[in-house]
Amino acid sequence: MNEQKSVCPQCHQQVVFVQSAFISTCPACGASFSRADGRVVKDDSGAADTMMSIARAILWVVVAAVAIVGVAAAVIFVGCAMSLGRF
Ligand SMILES: [Zn+2]
Repeated sequence: MNEQKSVCPQCHQQVVFVQSAFISTCPACGASFSRADGRVVKDDSGAADTMMSIARAILWVVVAAVAIVGVAAAVIFVGCAMSLGRF
């Protein structure tokens, strides 16, 4: 009914793009395009970027946890040292 046929920049066929949130996918050749600017979305680099941001997020969580444990250990150590120093 309301199908918008357009020419795929990759395979140059008249296709009805499969629409998702921000990406149009060509049903003929499987190429994905960003709907905002029409550039080809490279699936491999996109997955790598996602993996990198997930790894970076995990790294930050680990760093934060180590920092919190380190500060807690330092507070306990200083507390013990001060109480030992007094008595
Ligand atoms: Zn195509």
